[in-house]
Amino acid sequence: MFAPRTAVASRSDLPRQVPDEAAASVVVVGGGVAGVTAALVLAERGAKVELLEAADALGGRLGTWPRTLPDGTRVTVEHGYHGFFRQYYTLRDVLRRIDPDLSFLRDVGGYPVESREWESEDFSDLPTTPLANLAALVWKSPSFRLRDLRKVDGREALAMLRYDPVRTFAEHDHRTTAELLDAFGFSERGRAMLFEVFAHSFFNTEQRYSAAEFLAMCHFYFTGNPEGLGMDVPIDQYAATIWEPFTRLLEKHGATVTTGARANVVVSGQGGWAVGVEGGPTRTARHLVVATDVPATRALFARSPGFPTIAPRLASAVADMPGGEPYVVARLWCRGDVDPAHAPFTGVTRERILDSVTLFHRIEAESAAWARSAGGSVIELHSYACPHDASRDELVAEMRRELEGLWPEFADLEVLDVDAHLYDNAPGFDPGSHARRPGVVTDARGLRLAGDWVASDIPSALMERAAVTGVLAANDVLREVGAAPEPIRSIAPRGILARSTR
Ligand SMILES: Cc1cc2nc3c(=O)[nH]c(=O)nc-3n(C[C@H](O)[C@H](O)[C@H](O)COP(=O)(O)OP(=O)(O)OC[C@H]3O[C@@H](n4cnc5c(N)ncnc54)[C@H](O)[C@@H]3O)c2cc1C
Repeated sequence: MFAPRTAVASRSDLPRQVPDEAAASVVVVGGGVAGVTAALVLAERGAKVELLEAADALGGRLGTWPRTLPDGTRVTVEHGYHGFFRQYYTLRDVLRRIDPDLSFLRDVGGYPVESREWESEDFSDLPTTPLANLAALVWKSPSFRLRDLRKVDGREALAMLRYDPVRTFAEHDHRTTAELLDAFGFSERGRAMLFEVFAHSFFNTEQRYSAAEFLAMCHFYFTGNPEGLGMDVPIDQYAATIWEPFTRLLEKHGATVTTGARANVVVSGQGGWAVGVEGGPTRTARHLVVATDVPATRALFARSPGFPTIAPRLASAVADMPGGEPYVVARLWCRGDVDPAHAPFTGVTRERILDSVTLFHRIEAESAAWARSAGGSVIELHSYACPHDASRDELVAEMRRELEGLWPEFADLEVLDVDAHLYDNAPGFDPGSHARRPGVVTDARGLRLAGDWVASDIPSALMERAAVTGVLAANDVLREVGAAPEPIRSIAPRGILARSTR
């Protein structure tokens, strides 16, 4: 019942390779998970691919950059800690191309949720089978005592098991997650420990996040997920484990990877698309995959002359797409370490700013080596949905104060260096936005979208949504040139109690 499904089947009646390389020329704009996935699938099939990435390296929100610490050590900083969940079937299939056994990933172990108010809880060791996991959660968790459960509105809460990609959005997309959780009637504690941390992980607050999106996430990560809540993490920094191998593989398949190449205009012509690149020659191709984040996509289309005429629906949908909340990531290199009993990754609830703490020196080889030689630690603080009116430095100072409140020994560490960034490129999922959210195939002929903000009925989110839409974008090109699609597997598309439409 819960086994992985075939969401897109392979077609043995169609050729695997593109029949005509010239007809399958593709420019992919954006070299994050989505763009690299699309580029790789197409390059493997013999398409002529150029991948344009504005930054100096591939990776996007999973990207990296170099930094020299005050002691002269050159280190690699990542955009932020990422958990690779086990139901990310498409992402994992793509990653297997650079590491067939996924030996660069390892189980991060338990990841508790901590607060100053309640004892910490770890949900990662629940059974993997849906329903058994829910029963175990309710049985084991002190956040769900019998007296609390009596107040729960069972009919409302069953929406989590009734997820349906059409009906759930029709019934719940008009309201916020906060309204949905009010209707559920869970205790303050249950709500804080389980749901608030979860909503923040999508760079949204309960007050703005669509209830339907939230139910889709409950289905994908918990109530419909047969792989459990355990997550894996790379054993070393992402440039070495992910992006350099992908660059080599793309080039091996004949793709051109151009970094430092910002596309600033896209124009549709007779034979396809022309892509203007800042400070470089214009690229032309039959097909275009735009795999940029929401603000970058909005800016690209707004600068492109005549775009609203070529693709009126896409132009207005992208202009209207909400952004997520601002978020802050701060990596701290410290002298001394926190209590060895802390997990490598800890979710935090009910602090004003701080949402998670990662101990990189206990996860990744490069950080571990520096920590050993310096007698130190590499600690990363995230705020996934922070206030709009505070500066980066104020937010980082507040996260550090909040961590001292939670882990008092942190106050004794000497912070030697800080690399902190405030971003606003996460996608938003406001109530009512689903109907306007563009999918992979658009009304701009030959232009496909890919990214974690792009709509798809295949259960997925975050990195997995980026990978799924990347494959779907490649598949639409393959369909047009007469080649077989890349298969896609996913968890069950509907919840266990979703009403049959037959
Ligand atoms: C701090 C943090 C923690 C996260 N944790 C997790 C997690 O634990 N699990 C999980 O699944 N997901 C997590 N995510 C989300 C995940 O990073 C994203 O969902 C995913 O990386 C999105 O990939 P993408 O390819 O859609 O977009 P992006 O990674 O944003 O890629 C878009 C690319 O387009 C490039 N670009 C933009 N404009 C142009 C232009 N004009 N020309 C050329 N290139 C351009 C950008 O530089 C970027 O490289 C996290 C994200 C953050 C920020």
